[in-house]
Amino acid sequence: MTDLQEPTVRDERLVGAFGAQLRGELLRPGDGGYEEARHVWNGSVNRFPALIARCAGVADVIAAVKFARETGLPVAVRGGGHSFPGLSVCDGGLVVDLSPMKGIRVDPVSRTARAQAGVLLGELDRETQEFGLAVPAGIVTHTGLAGLTLGGGIGWLMRKYGLTIDQLLSVDLITAEGDFVKASASENPDLFWGVRGGSGNFGIVTEFEFRLNPVGPMVLAGPIFWLMEESPEVLRFYREWIADCPDELMTIVVQRRAPALPAVPRDLVGKHVLGVVCCYAGSIDEGKEFLRPLKEFGSPVLDLCMPKPFVVHQAMLDPAFRPGCWYYVRSCDVAELNDEVIDVVVEYGDQISSPITSIALWQMGGAVARIGDNETAFNGRTAGHTFNINGNSESAAGFDEEREWARSYWSALSPYHTSVYVNFLMEEGEERVRQAYGTEKYERLRTLKRRWDPDNFFRFNQNIKPAR
Ligand SMILES: Cc1cc2nc3c(=O)[nH]c(=O)nc-3n(C[C@H](O)[C@H](O)[C@H](O)COP(=O)(O)OP(=O)(O)OC[C@H]3O[C@@H](n4cnc5c(N)ncnc54)[C@H](O)[C@@H]3O)c2cc1C
Repeated sequence: MTDLQEPTVRDERLVGAFGAQLRGELLRPGDGGYEEARHVWNGSVNRFPALIARCAGVADVIAAVKFARETGLPVAVRGGGHSFPGLSVCDGGLVVDLSPMKGIRVDPVSRTARAQAGVLLGELDRETQEFGLAVPAGIVTHTGLAGLTLGGGIGWLMRKYGLTIDQLLSVDLITAEGDFVKASASENPDLFWGVRGGSGNFGIVTEFEFRLNPVGPMVLAGPIFWLMEESPEVLRFYREWIADCPDELMTIVVQRRAPALPAVPRDLVGKHVLGVVCCYAGSIDEGKEFLRPLKEFGSPVLDLCMPKPFVVHQAMLDPAFRPGCWYYVRSCDVAELNDEVIDVVVEYGDQISSPITSIALWQMGGAVARIGDNETAFNGRTAGHTFNINGNSESAAGFDEEREWARSYWSALSPYHTSVYVNFLMEEGEERVRQAYGTEKYERLRTLKRRWDPDNFFRFNQNIKPAR
């Protein structure tokens, strides 16, 4: 094995030969494009890989895995670069950057789509919505499809159609040995179980095949806001109102300071607000009927919930999560919004300081909960709500305070924690990864890891250590 920490002529030759093989680019520190390519979405992550292989296709991915095997370089795998803790970039190692792999093929007749691993959510929607179809995925268009899918995938359409992984028909994957395999219900079904939630632990997925579902293109969607002082009443009303709501409706409660966006009246900007963001992916008239009581409750200060193209709704939150700001997240699932949980939400919402700090409290259930818990590696199908507590700042200034607020909020909820969604973890250690899967699934995943990646070659992820 060659040690690239101390470059030698032989290393140079190996690196040169590797670079010459690639259809994509090989970037090293000092190369044009290196700086841009090493940065990920979370500005608080600042790592310097030895090499970045910007893969143009499957052959480049295979070459990268084999090169890393030969040289002993640690490997990080990058899809959309949106891992909260920045797990798609490493110091001193090789980044297998899949972001140039943008191929998408929609078959509107069979209602299936194939998407390569560098595709972002908005790019897939652009192609599928042309045919009034969609893969249920996340709520910000610049998120990577790959990482989101491998962790599960929650979003606006999940209560109607299930998680992103519930649409998955097959994957193409490069193993830790650099071999190409397929996984589906009929081919390598054990691996197929593991990639649906196992978070990139078993290999590099180069392409996903999804089932498509009819959506819109028009949906009734958007946020309704109240001033934060109304939140105790609004949250209690909301709890009763969603108790028997149709699967077409998905809501997320947000707390933040009203942002300076064109749709927000000047005198509201900066005020503490509580919003219920809705997406009714069914008949607009039925949606209006169901939503009326919410829209009429209390004294909303802004109502942006109206018929709009699904892709417009999907892009709504993009400006709230600009790449390069400093982000910290704490997350947990809770079974229900009992009075004690509501009290915590009310208390911490009032304390929000940064204009870009926010929480998202996701309504779970519907189709997600109707799929058997053991059918995929994803855990938490029976969760009532998922908290995503984001302590954010524009830069390093003020970041510690925001992080502290997020931690305290999360700790105050600790008596009510059930599970946690793996894609909303920071680097929180092995025990938290175990919690994300539950002990039984975690042990099954460890056995699977031993079978597909016994050396833990893929370890820059929410890591599942191979069973001994
Ligand atoms: C702004 C924002 C909004 C979000 N919204 C949602 C949401 O609505 N719903 C939701 O479910 N989640 C959401 N998330 C969480 C998101 O699912 C995870 O951060 C996810 O990991 C992002 O995927 P990525 O490809 O962009 O990330 P990356 O940072 O590129 O990768 C994340 C992890 O997956 C691994 N990985 C990436 N690609 C591959 C691959 N092809 N094969 C094997 N391993 C791979 C990486 O090594 C890394 O460990 C959001 C995150 C952000 C930052």
